Amino acid sequence: MTSEDGAGQVVVALTAVRKEYGEATALDGVSLEIRAGEAVAVMGPSGSGKSTLLNMVAGLDRPTSGQVLVQGDDLGRMKEKGLAVFRRRKIGMIFQFFNLIDDLPALDNVALAAQLTGTPADQARRRALELLDELGVADRRNAYPAVLSGGERQRVAVARALMNRPALLLADEPTGALDSRAGEQVMDLLIVTHDERLAQRCASRVVEFADGRIARERTLERQP
Ligand code: ADP
Ligand code: MG
Repeated sequence: MTSEDGAGQVVVALTAVRKEYGEATALDGVSLEIRAGEAVAVMGPSGSGKSTLLNMVAGLDRPTSGQVLVQGDDLGRMKEKGLAVFRRRKIGMIFQFFNLIDDLPALDNVALAAQLTGTPADQARRRALELLDELGVADRRNAYPAVLSGGERQRVAVARALMNRPALLLADEPTGALDSRAGEQVMDLLIVTHDERLAQRCASRVVEFADGRIARERTLERQP
């Protein structure tokens, strides 16, 4: 369990969120609630606003108007410093190309996430190794990103994202399947992907975007 919320509590609440970049409207009035324990896949064509939505929820960007609440924090009203703390403590983010640090071996890439929040190095390295082990890549702990396979890199990125026991795990277009054991560790998983199969496997709900709006929502039966 990575969240303090009981099952079914609203963790993410977006209300009439608009995001404009100059002339372009990336989000055109999005309202969405995500509850603890839900895994939501955001799908839709390129340019439909998926990454913008994720960046809003991660506190990487602010809405032009509307409200983004994550565990009661109103992100639009938080100052830059508050947002940085919010991101470190509450959000695990897996980027499309994993954004691992080339100069650090796998273990240090993972451990660094906790060291940045003030966890002592030895403690951080111990937890990092546990996570790498759970994800089946402990034997690659001393390998640098350049020599890891795509799948291994992804697992290291997942381990790093889970390091601080985030309330939310956000993945922007993960190119392969998320490890099911990693999936079980998180309460909320908001995946942004074009990959229907991945969404089917990980998500309990699919939100389909088109032109910055929610076009359709589906609830999925979990595959046993
Ligand atoms: P998706 O992730 O679904 O491909 P995005 O959220 O990246 O879509 O983009 C939605 C729209 O917003 C696109 O038209 C894109 O060009 C625009 N956009 C996104 N980020 C920026 C930015 N930083 N500056 C200008 N336009 C942006
Ligand atoms: Mg995107």
